[in-house]
Formats: sequence, structure tokens, C-alpha cells
Amino acid sequence: MEKPIKLKVITINESETIALAEKLVKIFPKGTIITLTGDLGAGKTHFVKGLAHGLGAKELVTSPTFTIMNIYESGAMPIYHFDMYRLSSCEEAEEMGFEEYFDSKTLDGLTVVEWPENVKGLINVPHINVNIVKGENGQRQIFVGREG
Ligand code: ADP
Ligand code: MG
Repeated sequence: MEKPIKLKVITINESETIALAEKLVKIFPKGTIITLTGDLGAGKTHFVKGLAHGLGAKELVTSPTFTIMNIYESGAMPIYHFDMYRLSSCEEAEEMGFEEYFDSKTLDGLTVVEWPENVKGLINVPHINVNIVKGENGQRQIFVGREG
């Protein structure tokens, strides 16, 4: 059995959240699927920015709200960044041909998903969940754990 990851970190500004993700990405092997949960404005996209920076990717990281997926491929391995905010079912994501990014065995990089709760059933393999809870004055509680 793989060693479980369980971590809670408090950050006090966006730079700290980015720095945390930059460090964490070094322990995520190719094929890792990461779900990001937390309210609008919690810091999910900033966390992805840190993952991309940590791999040395140079692309601008923004939420792919309208395109659903961004790819950052100038780093050590590609990151497939999804924002499922505008989708409402697993079937919808499958119709768009996104299934291939949710198979850890064939994935050649990292898949990172904002709003995974909108596509329940799409992610049926073990993955990492990062849950960000907003506090006061820029404080965020960030929980990292293995799921599935
Ligand atoms: P989400 O993708 O969860 O909707 P974003 O990453 O787009 O959130 O935005 C987070 C917002 O919160 C940004 O405006 C950022 O500057 C701000 N912020 C304040 N404190 C933090 C923190 N500790 N970590 C991350 N973002 C923070
Ligand atoms: Mg976002």
C-alpha cells in the first residue's frame, strides 16, 4: 500500500500558497491527478500557478473558465488544468473527450481539476485532493490528502 499523504498548511497570502504548491509538485509523480476544492476566490488557481512554476513552466496560468482546459507544457512535464465550473455532469466532460486525462496509467503529466464536484464519476482512480478554506485577512487553511 502506498504511504498516505495528509497535510494541513496555513498560508497568509497568495505568494505562500504558490510557494507551497511549488514545493509539493516535486513529490507528485507523472500520472498524478489532483482535485482542488474550495469556494470561489479560495486560491485554487493560484495553487495551480505554483504547480506550474514548480515544474518550470513559463505559460501564463489562468482559470480556463470558458475553454475548460489549459495545457502548460513548457515545464518538466505537462499540466492539464481543468475548470469544471461551467459543466454539470460527468457525461458532459466525457462528450468533450476529456476522459483520457483521467487515466493515471496513460497520463504523461499531471491533471489538475477545479470544481471536480461538477463532474462526479469522472475521477474514479486514486488521486490527491487539495481543499482550500478561506479565513480572514488572506489566511487560508490548505488540506492535502489522498482520496479514492
Ligand atoms: P479560485 O481559483 O479558488 O477561485 P483564485 O486563485 O483565482 O481563486 O483567487 C484567489 C484570490 O484570493 C486572489 O485574488 C488572491 O490574491 C487572494 N488571496 C488572498 N490570500 C490568499 C492566499 N493565502 N492564498 C491564495 N490566494 C489568496
Ligand atoms: Mg479558479
